[in-house]
Amino acid sequence: MAGLRLAAPWLLPVDAPPIADGAVLIDERGRIAAIGPDAAVPVPPDALIQRFEDAVLLPGLVNSHTHLELTGFAGMAEEADFWEWIKHIIALKATRTDEDFFHAASRGIRECWAAGVTTICDMGNTGSVIAAMHELGANGIAHHEAFDMHTEETPVVMKRFSRQLDRLARHATGRVQVGVSPHAPYTVSGPLYRAVSDLARSHGVPIGVHVAEPADESALLRDFTGIFAEALRARGVERVSDEAISPIAWLDRHGVLTPRTLCAHAIHTDVADTAIMVRRGVAVAHCPRSNRRHHHVDAPVARYVDHGLRIGIGTDSEVSVSPLDLIAEAREARKLTGWSAAETVRALTLGGAEALGLETSCGSLAVGKWADMTAIRIPAATSPADAVLASGTADVAATWSGGRRVH
Ligand SMILES: [Zn+2]
Repeated sequence: MAGLRLAAPWLLPVDAPPIADGAVLIDERGRIAAIGPDAAVPVPPDALIQRFEDAVLLPGLVNSHTHLELTGFAGMAEEADFWEWIKHIIALKATRTDEDFFHAASRGIRECWAAGVTTICDMGNTGSVIAAMHELGANGIAHHEAFDMHTEETPVVMKRFSRQLDRLARHATGRVQVGVSPHAPYTVSGPLYRAVSDLARSHGVPIGVHVAEPADESALLRDFTGIFAEALRARGVERVSDEAISPIAWLDRHGVLTPRTLCAHAIHTDVADTAIMVRRGVAVAHCPRSNRRHHHVDAPVARYVDHGLRIGIGTDSEVSVSPLDLIAEAREARKLTGWSAAETVRALTLGGAEALGLETSCGSLAVGKWADMTAIRIPAATSPADAVLASGTADVAATWSGGRRVH
């Protein structure tokens, strides 16, 4: 393939000021070779040349929290109670085959591309998302989930988990990474947290967790009360923590929080928890609409911004909020943080890439980075960042992943 040259009335490089009437030259490997005002970017004779007359070109969006194996489950679990909702999803998943999950994950990836998203950070336990990412040439991180609350079973659970991880590792090629996800404090025992985190360190893979999400998770660790404590007691599980501790401190005690750890939700945290998060250098996946749908409260994301934590925006699964619309999530995040339009677009792109540790290869339009890009149709004579934030999925005109047109 010869190179590709894209031009539009507006370019948002994100790590540099907007460029009016700009162009990007992409080399045959799919990397950005030149960017600037149209007149300053070379026009190689053999390059494919495309101009978008009514669009802004920007880096592909980064969705820092998805569950794409649940694509197609939208509207199937509507419980207000979080634990009942999770149990319903587990029951729904039990009716699906491996092939069903692979097709769901593939559809989910294509829907991400159609919405301008080029990098995903996914969590799941079927292994279908990493297989689909590999097959379709998508990029990002697929975290494989571990669960178990019975401490005496940890060695057996870890043996199985480690085998699953080895099997999934064959899909972790090119721009696809495998990670581990000890699921949540109400499904993972302390020893299992420790064992999975040790495994992540020894394999050099990232960690993704759900933490401080439902209020009853805090109650579980504080005094063994609430819906999770009741459910666990019924299954013969004794008190989880021998002293009152917050979810963040609980994970920290078991070595889970590192600079390669992404904390999804992180709603119920205080200043002391935030200090731990800063000290460990974790990143946050902020999912404002899912938080409201399930928990009716917002995460203290303004505090996280003030403390300089890396923050990505995430949709969570379509069983929580459907359809997945990362820009709609960013509009909500903006209200909570007071970000400018430019800062909000940054959170959607480079901020997300930083949260995932991928900022050297994607997240902004810069020479040498992958040409992960999207073209969003905007009205003439508007500020491009404001117009991006006002847009909807139907306004996405085209998406490229590593210079390859995927939508
Ligand atoms: Zn989630």
